[in-house]
Amino acid sequence: MSRHILVLADLRNGKVRNVTFEMLTAAVNIADGGEVSAALIGHDVAKHADLLAHYGANRVFVVDQEPLANYVPDGYANALEAVIKEANPDVVFLAHSAIGRDVAPKLAARFDAGQVSDIIKIETNGDQLVFTRPIYAGKAFTKVAIKDGLKFVTVRPNNLSKTEPDSSRTANVVSLNVQIPADSLRTLVKEVVRKSTQGVDLSEAKIIVSGGRGVKSAEGFQVLQELANVLGAAVGASRGACDAGYCDYAMQIGQTGKVVTPDLYIACGISGAIQHLAGMSNSKVIVAINKDPEAPIFKVADYGIVGDLFQVVPLLTEELKKVLV
Ligand code: FAD
Repeated sequence: MSRHILVLADLRNGKVRNVTFEMLTAAVNIADGGEVSAALIGHDVAKHADLLAHYGANRVFVVDQEPLANYVPDGYANALEAVIKEANPDVVFLAHSAIGRDVAPKLAARFDAGQVSDIIKIETNGDQLVFTRPIYAGKAFTKVAIKDGLKFVTVRPNNLSKTEPDSSRTANVVSLNVQIPADSLRTLVKEVVRKSTQGVDLSEAKIIVSGGRGVKSAEGFQVLQELANVLGAAVGASRGACDAGYCDYAMQIGQTGKVVTPDLYIACGISGAIQHLAGMSNSKVIVAINKDPEAPIFKVADYGIVGDLFQVVPLLTEELKKVLV
């Protein structure tokens, strides 16, 4: 059954995030000959339309307005509502990011539609789309289908595969003049103060080197940063390490932190509490370094190294430098 899928492009710091390409690829696969369109909402965003076309969008709806330069809940919701009314899709894909998680339920309520959140897999069963999503903090998975009508779906980054872009593909760009008077917005973002972060974005990283309370200090994290530099990886942390003041909460992975699914997750001095596993257990390959052979992290690890991280990590860094640098 052919269907029309609309993908809301997920933008951060003026760039299209990888999850957008993953959503477009999935959209092409399940459209079954139907339409794949994309929505670009923000300010000075039309320039990204070509890129969305390269990943499979046939039509790109653009709402480009100054009040939307930063994410504002009412403004984005109004803009996306206008796009949906114009495009009339069967399914709307949004990233399971801060923006997607905020805007999807608002729109689902406005359209009296069903919503499935944080999906990691899509299958078809006859005419139905069946979505897999983790439950109980990642301990189990459930399959969900919405029978009729418009569907809002938020997609967990780094789970669906993305196609190679085809630069010969073009899209029909439709600019929508949605009225968003500044005084209609209940919240206004006046200024965004960005944290200066070292290196790779954690939520999109392919490799993560992560540290726990076993790292023992902020200086200890420098040892992990050196390994991360050699691997081109991001550095993450357990809440134990954040609570102890060794690193910033922006680095926290887990139930109350970021959910990550890198190709390789190297856990150093992390015990493996259920709340930490909730944020990383879907990583493709997990390596654990811990001096306690009974640490629960070894139950989810593909490779385990029992040892002192301050001996093991520098050794790994030196050996990897020989082959990678
Ligand atoms: P610990 O449990 O203290 O483990 C430290 C580990 O380091 C030990 O296994 C030890 O053997 C090892 N170690 C020590 N020294 C060395 C060394 N030199 N070399 C190698 N290994 C060494 N936690 C999260 O991570 N993320 C969350 O999002 C999160 N959310 C939570 C939400 C709630 C509601 C609650 C109640 C808790 C949450 N927690 C979360 C906390 C979680 O329960 C654990 O307390 C936390 O994950 C422990 O962090 P840790 O593994 O770094 O520390």
